[in-house]
Amino acid sequence: MNYNLEFRGDLNKVKNLNDLEKLRLEYFGSQGKITQLTKSLKSLSPEEKKEAGRKINRLKNEIELAFSQKQQEVADRNDSGWIDVTAPGIKPREGHLHIVSLAIEEITRIFEKIGFTRVRYPEVEWEWYAFESLNMPPNHPARDDFETFFVDQEPSSQYGKIVLSPHTSSGQVREMERLHQPPIRMINIAKCYRPNWDVSHVPMFHQFEGLVVDRGINITHLKGTMDYFAKQFFGPNRKTRLRPFHFQFTEPSFEVDITCGVCLGTAKLADGSRCRFCKEGWLELGGSGMVHPNVLKAGKIDAQKYTGFAFGWGIERTYMMKSGTKLDDIRLLYSNDIRFLEQF
Ligand SMILES: [Zn+2]
Repeated sequence: MNYNLEFRGDLNKVKNLNDLEKLRLEYFGSQGKITQLTKSLKSLSPEEKKEAGRKINRLKNEIELAFSQKQQEVADRNDSGWIDVTAPGIKPREGHLHIVSLAIEEITRIFEKIGFTRVRYPEVEWEWYAFESLNMPPNHPARDDFETFFVDQEPSSQYGKIVLSPHTSSGQVREMERLHQPPIRMINIAKCYRPNWDVSHVPMFHQFEGLVVDRGINITHLKGTMDYFAKQFFGPNRKTRLRPFHFQFTEPSFEVDITCGVCLGTAKLADGSRCRFCKEGWLELGGSGMVHPNVLKAGKIDAQKYTGFAFGWGIERTYMMKSGTKLDDIRLLYSNDIRFLEQF
């Protein structure tokens, strides 16, 4: 087989786009030279096939490049002396925002509609904001849950060591300090860092953290906000429930569950079999609860006068639940593999 097709002679004779189109058929049409070469692969042994395939691909790329250069050249030369302004242009390759950016934009919009303000707080943070201010004193076992990156730097006597923020909750007291007085309606979306690397963890991920503090805020406000978000983000038929849990910085604390989008909360599929995507019709969204009085005190807010609720979830996980993508490895999101990213 000849993998060194001499195509440049033919290409040099091309005068206009019509000629070019004819030539393109000679190479890439159903009986074209390249098409024939590709068909001939079938008769080769696996070893030969590999080598020949590589050669054909190289040749194909070379010819395609030469053709597109010729096309540009013919168009520029503009032999006929006039320009067809209605002719379709050559469409450049278009990218789009990363799915995590899209999710952040959408979540921001949903909460802005009900009066939340989007803020961002430091990714490099004092231990005090990340833990102590959130009712987790030094040596408290809850801090083990947040395996944390420490920055090798002289600690502060007031604020402790420097860490890479392990959660967006460290923005809670910062927001109280910024506003001094309620009402507070914050949505803090930022990068978080924890030293984990497996199919469901990456060392850098995103969270969004909601915080509302005002007079008379109670659990019904939390539930209403969760319902509103679930309907806006996942669809009008989804319901939420609060399931008792424990977090150090909220009391009482809840996990928020949402009805499964596949079986719609029935835990059964149309054919009567059990739904494999959920637990009894529910999926876990993330943590929430009523702000612990000690956290309000850390933010110098009068815990006798004011109450609040907070919630904080991973962006990546929340988005994956929405799109219905059965993503079996979260690391794909950060692999920069264009074949993966183009699907969204
Ligand atoms: Zn289900």
